[in-house]
Amino acid sequence: MLRLPKRTRIILLFLLGIGLPSLILGYLAFRGVQNDQALIEKARIDEHRRMTEQIVGLMDEKIGAVEHACSEAVKDSQGATDEDLAKRLASLIDEHPLVEQVFMLKGPDTVHFPAARFLYIRDGQRSSIASPKRPSSIASLIQSGERWEFQERNYPQALAAYEQAVEQSAGDDSKGRLLNAVARVQKKSALPQDAISTYKKIAADFGRVTISDGLPLGLAARLELGSLCRETEDDSSALESFMDAYTSLVHREWTLEKAQFELFAGRVKDCIHGIISNPPPDLDLQSFKNDFQRLEEEEKEQRNRTERSLAFEEKAAADLEAKISGPEDDPSLSASRLTLDIGRQSYLVSILRQTDRSSDEANGVWGIILDADRLRGDILGPALLQYASSKETSWAVKARDGSTILTSENSPTGTVTVRANFVSNFPDWSLEFYQPPPRLLSTFLLSRQGVYFYMFLLIAGILVFGLILTVRAVSRELELARMKSDFVSTISHEFKSPLTSIRQLAEMLHSGRVPSEERRREYYDVLLEQSERLSLLTENILNLARIEEGRKEFVFEKTDIGALLKEIVTSIQDRVRHEGFSIELEIKKDLPSIKADRVALAQVVTNLIDNAVKYSGESRRIIVRASEESAFLTIAVKDFGIGIKKEDLDRVFERFFRGGDELTRTVKGSGLGLTLVKEIVEAHDGTVYAESEPGKGSAFFIRLPLPRDEEQQDA
Ligand code: ADP
Repeated sequence: MLRLPKRTRIILLFLLGIGLPSLILGYLAFRGVQNDQALIEKARIDEHRRMTEQIVGLMDEKIGAVEHACSEAVKDSQGATDEDLAKRLASLIDEHPLVEQVFMLKGPDTVHFPAARFLYIRDGQRSSIASPKRPSSIASLIQSGERWEFQERNYPQALAAYEQAVEQSAGDDSKGRLLNAVARVQKKSALPQDAISTYKKIAADFGRVTISDGLPLGLAARLELGSLCRETEDDSSALESFMDAYTSLVHREWTLEKAQFELFAGRVKDCIHGIISNPPPDLDLQSFKNDFQRLEEEEKEQRNRTERSLAFEEKAAADLEAKISGPEDDPSLSASRLTLDIGRQSYLVSILRQTDRSSDEANGVWGIILDADRLRGDILGPALLQYASSKETSWAVKARDGSTILTSENSPTGTVTVRANFVSNFPDWSLEFYQPPPRLLSTFLLSRQGVYFYMFLLIAGILVFGLILTVRAVSRELELARMKSDFVSTISHEFKSPLTSIRQLAEMLHSGRVPSEERRREYYDVLLEQSERLSLLTENILNLARIEEGRKEFVFEKTDIGALLKEIVTSIQDRVRHEGFSIELEIKKDLPSIKADRVALAQVVTNLIDNAVKYSGESRRIIVRASEESAFLTIAVKDFGIGIKKEDLDRVFERFFRGGDELTRTVKGSGLGLTLVKEIVEAHDGTVYAESEPGKGSAFFIRLPLPRDEEQQDA
C-alpha cells in the first residue's frame, strides 16, 4: 500500500471526510437557489400573465362599452331627420371622448360622417345652389337696380331700386341678398357709415344666407365690415370684425369648400396681421394677440382632424366594404374591429354589427373611428399604472412597426416574459412585460435565498477554519514527535560521549600508563568537567520532569546572590580553565539578599554560563554581572560567541528547541537548558530574556523582584 507522509494523510482524510461532503452540500445549496430562482421567475411570469389579462380585459371592456353606446344611439335615431341625427351623434361624441368619429358606410364607395363638422369639405363636393324664385315685380326692380348700378353708374337710383325691392321681398334668402346689394351700392356711393350699418344688419340677421358661389353672407359681411372700418380709420372695430370672421371660420360655422376656406382664412389672417403689425397707438393688442394665437392653434388641430376624416371619407369605403362583406369573424361579437391604413394615417375602426345592413338595408352600416391617442392616454396608460404599478415591473406597449408607444418608469430591459395582443388585435399594439436578466449573486444576497448564501458562507468558513486548525494541530504534533525523537537520540549521545571519555580516562589512570603528574592533573580536570556536565544534564532532565508534573518544590530562603554567583563562577572557571576561558564576575556592591531556592537558581546560572561556554565560538570571554535596578535584581550572562539569529531569539526558551544553524548543531545539547531556566525564573516571579547579534555574542538577563522593605526586615 502507498505510504503517504502522516500530515498528507490527515489532510487527505480531512478533505475526503469533510471537504467533499461540504462541497456536495454547497452544490446542493447552489442548486436550491437556482430552483428558487426558477420558481420566482415562474411566479413573475404568472403575475405578468394575470396583469396582461386584466389590462387586455379592461381595454376590451371599455371599447365594448363605447361600441355598445354608439350602437344604441344609432338604433335609437333610426328614422330621425338628418339634423336631429347629427345632433345626437355630436352629443354622443362629446360624451365619449374615445370616439373620434361616427360614420356610415353606404355601399362600396360612400362613407359619410353624419355628425361631423369639418373645417372644410372637399372641393367640388357642394351641391349647387339654386337662385331663389322671386315674384316678377321684385325681379324687375332688381333688374333696373343692376342697370343703374353697373351700366349707368347712377348709384342713388340703384340704391332706391334695391331698397324698394327689399321692402317688397319676403323670405330671408332674397332679403339677405338684396340687403347685400344695398350695402354694396352704399359703399360705392361713398356712404361708408350707411354701408357699415347695413352690413351689421346682414351679419346679425342673414348670416346663414349663401350667395351663388356658396359664400355665406355672414362671412362676407364681416369681411366687408372690417375693410370699411379700416377705411374709416376705426382699426379697433376692424380688428373685431376680422377676429369675428376668423372665429366663425375656425368654429366651423359655415360649410366651405377647401379652396374657399383657404382663400378666406388667408385673407382674414392677412388683415389681422396687417393691423397687429402696424397697430394704432390707443389699441391694447395683447388680448387680441392671445385670442388670435389660440384660434390659430385650434385651426391647426381642426385641420388635422378634417384632413384625417376627409381621407377616410374618400378612401375607406372600398376597404371597409371588402372587409365586412368577407366572412364574419365571430358572430357573437357585437362589432368587428379592424385597423385601417390610409396613406400614413392609421384608423381604429369598429363596425357596429347591430346595425348590419341585413337588418336595415336603407341605412347602410354604421361604424366608429376610435381615437388612438385617447385610447392610449385615457385608458391603457391608467390601466397599466393601476395593474402594473409595482416599481419592479417593467413593461412596454409597442406599435406594429416596433416603435414604443408607452413604457414603464423603469426602462424595460432583459427578456420578455409575456407578450400579448389586445382582443381582436385591436388596437394592433402588443403589450410586453419584461424581467431583468437573472443575477444569481444579487438574488443570493438580497432576496430570501440570502439564507442559503449565508449558510453556504458559514459552511465554507467552518471548513476553512477547521482545515487551518487541523493543519496546525497536525503540524504541531508532528513537530513535537520529531523533537522528542531528536531528543532521545541527542540525550543518548549526550550521555554516551562523556561516559566514553570518562571510562577511557579512568582506565588509563587506573592502568598507571599516564607518566607525568601534569598530564594526570589535566585528566582529572577533564574527568571532573565531564561528570559535572553529566550531572547537570541529569539534573536538568529530572528537574524539568518534576516541574512539568508539578512535583517540584522550591525552597525559598534568604540568599546572598553575590556569594552564590562567586561560588558558581569559581567552580565552572576551574572546570573550563584548561580550555582557556576567563569568566569575569562583576557584582555591584551592597547587593541586597533575595529569597530564592539556592539550588535551583544555581542551576539557572550554571545553565546560562554553560551555554555561554558552549556557543562561545572563537571567543574565550564571558561576563557575569549582578546589579540592582529599581525594584529588581538583574543577573546577566554575556558572551562574545556565535550569537543567535533574530528569528530564533524568541524560540530559544521553547522545549527541545535547538538553534537551526550549522554552528549550533556542531555543539552538543538537548534543547532543555533554557526551558528549565525559564520555568525556574518564573517560579521566582522573575523574567528572563535574551539579546543577541549573530557573530557578536549573546546576553541573557534574569530579573528577579527585590523584596519590599518590610519583607526585608522580616527576613
Ligand atoms: P542546548 O542544550 O541546545 O544548549 P538550551 O535550551 O540551553 O539547549 O538552548 C537552546 C538553544 O539556544 C541552543 O540550541 C542554542 O541554539 C541557543 N543558545 C542558548 N544559549 C546560547 C548562547 N549563549 N549563544 C548562542 N546560542 C545560544
